[in-house]
Order: sequence, then C-alpha cells, then structure tokens
Amino acid sequence: MEKHILSKSTFIKGHQCLKALYLHKKRSFLRDKLSPEQLAKFKRGHKVGDMAQEIFPGGIDVSPKSPSQYQKSVIQTQELIAEGQTIIYEATFQYNKVLVMLDILVKTEKGWEAYEVKSSRRLSETYFTDAALQYYVITNSGLDLATFSLVYVNENYRLQEEGNIDVDQYFIKQEVSAEIIAKQAEIAEEIESELQILTELHSPKIEVGSHCFFPYSCDFFGFCWKKRSTDLFKLPALSKAERTDLLNKQILSLEDLRNEKWNNPLAEKQLNSLITNEPFISNNLKVILSTLPVDTAYLGFVSRQAAIPYCMGDKPYQNQLLSYSFITDQTKQALLFSGKCDDYAAFVEHFIQELISTPKIVVYDKEHLTELLKQVAEFFPALSSRIEQIIAKVWGIKQWILEGEFYFPGLKYDLIFKDTLNRILNITPFAGKPLSADVLAVNMFVQMNESTNLFDATNEDKKAILTYVEHIAIYTQELANVLKQ
Ligand code: SF4
Repeated sequence: MEKHILSKSTFIKGHQCLKALYLHKKRSFLRDKLSPEQLAKFKRGHKVGDMAQEIFPGGIDVSPKSPSQYQKSVIQTQELIAEGQTIIYEATFQYNKVLVMLDILVKTEKGWEAYEVKSSRRLSETYFTDAALQYYVITNSGLDLATFSLVYVNENYRLQEEGNIDVDQYFIKQEVSAEIIAKQAEIAEEIESELQILTELHSPKIEVGSHCFFPYSCDFFGFCWKKRSTDLFKLPALSKAERTDLLNKQILSLEDLRNEKWNNPLAEKQLNSLITNEPFISNNLKVILSTLPVDTAYLGFVSRQAAIPYCMGDKPYQNQLLSYSFITDQTKQALLFSGKCDDYAAFVEHFIQELISTPKIVVYDKEHLTELLKQVAEFFPALSSRIEQIIAKVWGIKQWILEGEFYFPGLKYDLIFKDTLNRILNITPFAGKPLSADVLAVNMFVQMNESTNLFDATNEDKKAILTYVEHIAIYTQELANVLKQ
C-alpha cells in the first residue's frame, strides 16, 4: 500500500492555511522553536482518550508502533473487520492518499458506529471538520457507517469515588452524522486542493491574517511575520473581534493604525501612548497605590484544571489550588498542597485564613483568582462568605491595564505575566530557575504526585514549585512598586 500524504492533523493544518500545510510538509526547518511551555502542553498525554475506550471495553488496539507502520495498521483494521471483530481502537483507514485513525469503531445491530473522542468540554467547528474528514475516508475506503459520534467531556460530572471514574457519566456522546454528511463535497474538494498545493515548487502566496491564530496558533509565525509589523498586538484594549477585523484588513503597523477610525477610546489612548512611547498611569490608580496599606499582601498562586477529576466531588477541569505564596512587609511564605485529597480542605482553609486578615491583596490576574475562589466556595460552601470578603479586597494588575488605569507601550495584547514583567521591569523573569511557567509547575506537581515517596520536605521538585510561586508574589510586588513611582 502506498504511503499516505495527508493525515487528520495535516488536513486540518491545510484547512487553516494552505501555506502552513506546504511549509509543514516541504520546509519544516522554518518552523518556530517550541517554548518549554508549548512542549509541556504536548506532553500532557492521552489519558482521556484511553479512558474513553472503557465505554466499549474488550476491543483490539491497532495503533502503529512507529510512524512507518501506519499502513500496517490499515491492513490490520481490514483483517479484524473481516474476521468479525466488533470493537477496534484506533481503527485506521486510508483513501485517496489520506490516512485517518478513528478512536473507537464498534459493530452493533445497526451496523458500524464510529466514535471520535475529544478531551474538551465543548465541540468546536474544527471537531466537525475533523469528523467529516474521517467519515469521508472511512466510507470511501469501503466501510459503511451507521452513525458517527463525537465523544466529549461532561463538565457537570462529579467524581463520586476517588480513583473511580464512571465513564458513562463522564463522557457525552453526540451523534453528528447529519452535520458531517452535509460537509462531504466540501471535504472532497479540499483534499484535492491540499494535495495539489503539495505538488507545487513554491509555497502559495497567502497573506498573514486571523488564520495565523485560529483555530490554532500557527507554528510558522516567525517566518511569515518576520517582515510584518506586530504593532497591532500591542493594544490590549482591543476586543478579539476588533483585533481580528484589523488583522484581516492588514492594518498592522502604527502608520496604518493611526489612520483608522476608532470606536474604542481606550485602544486609541493606548495607540497614542505607543506612538509617543510614553506610558500613562491614571490619577485614580496613583491614589489607590499611594494609599495601599503597609500590610497589603502580594499574592502568587498556581492552580490546575485537570481534565480527569481527582478528588471526590471534583468536576472535570475544576480549578484546584496547588500552591500559593504571599508577601507582606511582615511575612513571606509559600505553601504547597500535599496532593492528598484528605488534606485539601485544610490547605484551602489555611489559604483563606491567611488572606482574610490582610487589608488588601494585589495579584497579577484578579479574574483567575476570582474564578478559583468561586470554585473553592462551590466545593466548600462554609467558606463562601469569607471568600466573598476576600474577592472584595483584591486588586489585579492585569485588570488595571484592561480597565485603562495604566499602560506601558509595547505591552502585548494577551498580557501574559512573563511578557508584562519583561516590558515593565525590563527583566527576563524566572531566568535560570527550574520553572518558568504555570504549566511547567503543574506538570511537575502531577509527576511528583504520581510517583510515590517523593513528597518529602527535601524534594527538589517541591522546592522548585515553591520557589516559582514565591517569585510570582515577589514580581507582583515589584510591578506594583514600579507603578507607585
Ligand atoms: S503564519 Fe499565517 S500565513 Fe504563515 S503559514 Fe501560518 S497561518 Fe499561514
């Protein structure tokens, strides 16, 4: 069997941008270098997909052992079907140079049913396109499908027993046959365009635009944007819709932006600041900062949102506090959750107790803290009133930017903590430290928690997380200090 040219992921890449597909296949050396955070996200594993197999237990997994064995999996799938196997995991099909691997294929009285598993809580348009491609390849390669369903995570599921997920409740199965059958002609046409592009000598001439970010951030950004202005991305006050509109109109540079007619006074104010290279701080913020009580707490914290619930009563993707640090002029401390569900209530209670006694709290992202605290209150209703009191006294530096209280030229639109520190404090934060982002701290916590006997006071990983969270608090205080001057 000849080797395939497109797979599900490369087809979706081409669906987003034909140039991205071409570069991926023909000029992969131009790809951006992955950051440690991106690498950490890729390493998150396939636990949700593996768990979904339990909905239909007893199947045979035909995943290839290596990329060179995809065609072997196609043959094995055909053989298993012919032999009367009724449940196949990673069932692999190829048609017209496109190869797809379906998570679960099941034979019932109705015929063959296809299930594709997604680890998210909502179905996106991209999932429908992906399902439509699979339907196209499977049915054209000779297997009739009675139904095709997308399987995704039920965000209202609550874990009833630690370590024991009820997969029938955890997953939602949604039949999407009608929607994806309606897309078949479009899929056939698109496969032809993608295959055609890959026969060309040069990459297609495609301008940058919102497709560089949606549905996924393109990994050839550095190459395509090398000679393009990125000033548009320095206006955090623009809404996503406004930014997308300007992107698609190729209004990217200061020159073009200043000629635009604005309906967003704050974005216009940020643009003027960017043009004159002069930061601004409102009088209101100056008053807030000059009257901050001396024992104000500067808080750093790390939380996780695990797809698979962990402690009894948890929901999928529920925010769970893992570590926090706060500094005042009197104290400085950092604590880490032990990872044992029985200890969580005491850990959270301690956190609330510490914060309730401080007059004001400054964090980088108030919205993130508020979301975490609200979920804690839902889990521990006895803490609700104290949590409300805490939320009422929190200031968020990121929210000050978004509300127009201050702006430094060059702040990036997504206001990632590290970038904001870099711009305002002129430092490379966390340089030389073992951890430099929340996702790395969360991954380290998970690894530590999955191993046994690692959770002792001398553990290096534990120290690394505590040092990381302590630095978040320190940098938050430094940001507030710069704004005070
Ligand atoms: S950066 Fe944009 S234009 Fe360039 S390949 Fe990616 S999506 Fe296409």
